[in-house]
Amino acid sequence: MAGVSRSDSKVAEIKQDELPWGIVLPLEPTEKKLSEIVNQGKLVSDEIIISLLSKRLEAGEAKGESGFILDGFPRTIQQAEILEGVTDIDLVVNLKLQEDILIDKCLGRRICSQCGGNFNVASINVKGENGKRGISMAPLLPPPHCMSKLITRSDDTEAVVKQRLRIYNEKSQPVEEFYRSQGKLLEFDLPGGIPESWPKLLQVLNLDDEEKQSAAA
Ligand SMILES: [Zn+2]
Repeated sequence: MAGVSRSDSKVAEIKQDELPWGIVLPLEPTEKKLSEIVNQGKLVSDEIIISLLSKRLEAGEAKGESGFILDGFPRTIQQAEILEGVTDIDLVVNLKLQEDILIDKCLGRRICSQCGGNFNVASINVKGENGKRGISMAPLLPPPHCMSKLITRSDDTEAVVKQRLRIYNEKSQPVEEFYRSQGKLLEFDLPGGIPESWPKLLQVLNLDDEEKQSAAA
């Protein structure tokens, strides 16, 4: 799920992992301490995440950014409620993929033990039947020199992935309801991988592919 606020083309994308780690901001000494806490795997409170987000948004506004996309945030109803007091969210996009495909994709994740690159070996080819659409998603294969060095994260097992999904669904349902009741939730069924999904998503959002346009001009 992603919270979107957008007024024109200068839109920044703010990743979930950018927030507690504070990659984009020069960190204050106290925040450095925070990032140490986060890196030690301790929980960061919503207030701290939101406070870092506020600073990031202020810094972005000062640089002339007039909108932003929050990737993977808010995740809980508590975060959504606090966010409400920080900024205005125009639209929330809920990207949906049927669960068995999602699990296959999660189980296909591989990391190169040498260069740290992220890849996905799962090749999804589900035929459309009983009114359901077929879905194809190409694997994201590594270059040949990484192929023999691929490893699977120890927690990418079917049991752990299913458990993560269960927790995600439990926490995201109230968030979906929160934005649905405000008329801000856009449900988007992914038609396939990124090449198939991206143009359709832009179409649904009524956004032109601005980069293509300016390249043609
Ligand atoms: Zn590699």
